[in-house]
Amino acid sequence: MRFPIFKTKIKGVTQKFHLTEPKDRKAYFELKAGPEIKKLKEFLKRNTFIAYLLGKKNSGKGTYSKMFAEVINPEKIEHFSIGDMIREVDKELKDSKKRAELISFLEKQYRGFLPLKETISVFKKRNTETLLPTELILALAKREIAKGEKKALFIDGFPRNLDQISFALFFRDLIGYREDPDIFILIDVPEAVIDERIKWRRVCPLCQTSRNLKLLPTSKVGYDEKKKEFYLICDNPDCLGLTRRTTTEGTRMISKEGDELGIKPIRARLEMDEKLMEKAFSLQGIPKVLLRNSVPVKEAEKFVDDYEITPEYSYQWNAKTKKVKVIEKPWKIIDDESRPSYSLLPPPVVVSLIKQIVEVLHL
Ligand SMILES: [Zn+2]
Repeated sequence: MRFPIFKTKIKGVTQKFHLTEPKDRKAYFELKAGPEIKKLKEFLKRNTFIAYLLGKKNSGKGTYSKMFAEVINPEKIEHFSIGDMIREVDKELKDSKKRAELISFLEKQYRGFLPLKETISVFKKRNTETLLPTELILALAKREIAKGEKKALFIDGFPRNLDQISFALFFRDLIGYREDPDIFILIDVPEAVIDERIKWRRVCPLCQTSRNLKLLPTSKVGYDEKKKEFYLICDNPDCLGLTRRTTTEGTRMISKEGDELGIKPIRARLEMDEKLMEKAFSLQGIPKVLLRNSVPVKEAEKFVDDYEITPEYSYQWNAKTKKVKVIEKPWKIIDDESRPSYSLLPPPVVVSLIKQIVEVLHL
């Protein structure tokens, strides 16, 4: 799928921002989308919308919608993940009182070809490979949507096993459930970006904070002289509190088993996600917001500012001073159409999200 490149560069403006600093980020959004932010804040005082996030695994769905909420109004916007919902339902089924409430809700709401009892037993016995019956997810999603009334919702994660017809019905049914505007948000990220995000991912074993050795380091980087490798040290302030007693350095972040393989193990999943996006793209009657993560190197100067491009980090070890030197440069990838490209940091993508939402809502 080819999405248009969104222009975030403003002619004549040379001011630079450090987009990882919350204060700078605020000023950046004010400059690039001030009037639109104001309109959305005003709109959300009395109105809501439902946005369906569609993008491949690791495409940044959560990052973008959470940053959007941070900029506009966190109290009025909720990010709702179907995956998290299913994990919550798992817990409910183990608690006899909550379980009875859930079943009584489903008896009223569930429409499907499998009897409810059987559906629930599929739910309990499933593993990560089995896909849940669409009708069950639909009924549960409705319950969540009803809870979140008076808030704009970003819904993340949809059944991937839908055929054309049930796909359209699925959305029509959900949309009819609440009478506010609905929007599809489609995210286009080159597979090379997803691959590197997984390969270099590092997680703190104590607080589970996730960073990236190549793309999103912490403020402290260490070097293991025995293994000859660099590592990140968790700098989450809450986490430092946990470790102070045992070590002075903070916790070394680690890679999860299998991450070094990148997208290889999830290739089938990515293909399914792509098909789902194509289906959503061709579904008529719902306005669409198209988010694009990459910009071809050749066109970058025309469309974006330098500081909006994701840098890549590499490291050098100085054996004499025992210090790590951090080297930063723009990160180049090859996009899905074989063009050398840059990947954008989340803020410029969120600027394009804000402006396109204002447009589809006719504000
Ligand atoms: Zn930590």
